[in-house]
Amino acid sequence: MERIENLILGAGPAGIAAAIRLGKSAKIIDKNNFIGGQSASLEIGEAVFDIGGHSFHTPHPFVKDLVYNSLDMYEQVRKAYCYSYDTLIPYPFQKNFRQINNEEVVAECAKGLETVDPGRHSDNFREFIANRFGEGISKHFMNPYNEKLWARDLTKLDAKWVGERVAAPEGIKEKFDLEGGKRKPLQADTVVGYPAKGGFGEIYKALAKKVHDLELGVFVTGIDLKKKEVYTKSGKTYAYDNLISTIPINELIKITVSVPENIRKMVNKLEYMSLKCVMVAINHPVDTEVQRIYSGDNDNPAHKTAINHNSSDWLRSRKHHGIMGEVSYSDYKYMHRKDLEQWFLDCLKKMGIIKGFDEVMETRVVDIKYAYPVPTHDRVEIMTTARNFLVENNIHSLGRFGEWAYINSDEALARGMILGEQILGK
Ligand SMILES: Cc1cc2nc3c(=O)[nH]c(=O)nc-3n(C[C@H](O)[C@H](O)[C@H](O)COP(=O)(O)OP(=O)(O)OC[C@H]3O[C@@H](n4cnc5c(N)ncnc54)[C@H](O)[C@@H]3O)c2cc1C
Repeated sequence: MERIENLILGAGPAGIAAAIRLGKSAKIIDKNNFIGGQSASLEIGEAVFDIGGHSFHTPHPFVKDLVYNSLDMYEQVRKAYCYSYDTLIPYPFQKNFRQINNEEVVAECAKGLETVDPGRHSDNFREFIANRFGEGISKHFMNPYNEKLWARDLTKLDAKWVGERVAAPEGIKEKFDLEGGKRKPLQADTVVGYPAKGGFGEIYKALAKKVHDLELGVFVTGIDLKKKEVYTKSGKTYAYDNLISTIPINELIKITVSVPENIRKMVNKLEYMSLKCVMVAINHPVDTEVQRIYSGDNDNPAHKTAINHNSSDWLRSRKHHGIMGEVSYSDYKYMHRKDLEQWFLDCLKKMGIIKGFDEVMETRVVDIKYAYPVPTHDRVEIMTTARNFLVENNIHSLGRFGEWAYINSDEALARGMILGEQILGK
């Protein structure tokens, strides 16, 4: 049996960062045959796709240093738009709604803003939207867009995370801070990074070169926390001193023996949102500078469309380009339609992103079960109890679904590096 001081489950950003910090004492195993987890990329012809639209930005200078010292990065202003009432307006909606080609909608949004009380306490995300943006913006964009994205009633979400993600309305200037250690909402002029060559996954392939020991294609099927052993599909067993797990915490608890029933029950209450990522490979370069389009319209299945080949000059120079639609679903929102790909293609045509269906080389739907951890009201209490129990048993649950936290890959890197240092006693 192989014995490892710090065994890491998952070769995504969090696992890679922890392994870099832990050096020779660490080994990563991952069920996939590729590196990067949710931050990996794939190709169809010369078209490059990430698993949903990805770009790199971070408020942590030490994370930026790690990434930018590992590969060449390309930087540009993020050109994002909202498609609403048949108009493409700059992102975010709440700052640019006056450009909508519908006087009544603009008047309702403006009137709602006059009556808002941003200081009023909000018990949930839906209340936050009403308090911050007023009736018009809530009705015409923020509610339908967020219901589409989160695939559930917005009162189920708490409002504690909004400061990091939801931009303020018109008239309020915000700066996208790249030093402060805390994420700020994206703005119309935010500068983002992307690998100078290849897809987003190149970042993690480059970082993985710094990992001492990494084994792919190893599916973990069981953990005995008393014996401190990990069991795998192939029958191989690994013994560990510390286990760092970046697999979804509910899945971790499911495969671990000797976990108290109350903890099992608690983690089963954690909610997630799933995604169908509709990938469209077209047989020529795209004829637009747009990078992202956000839509709250019900006649478009995607809440976000990512025109991936505007993420770098290298991608722009490719013969084939890739466009992605992010379509969310959950127990509360059914999205298993057979015509999903054609539906999305119709929307691309309507928005002017493609001119005809003869441009389409191939479409593919990638299903992501665990896409977004939902910030429900009981999430913090559940995670505190579950993670404390695991730490007492030398298991550290880390990363987007290990911590059930709505974080990007840069934050997963930061948390992996910090945990590595804590384990080393630094
Ligand atoms: C649609 C979408 C858009 C996003 N956009 C951005 C963006 O613009 N910028 C950004 O920085 N981030 C973005 N993110 C977030 C980013 O992808 C994640 O935050 C990041 O990949 C999380 O890293 P992680 O290491 O915590 O988990 P993951 O990347 O999920 O890695 C976990 C790893 O664990 C492995 N694993 C799971 N179960 C087992 C098992 N039983 N045995 C062995 N291995 C197992 C998996 O194979 C996986 O490789 C986006 C995510 C989504 C879904």
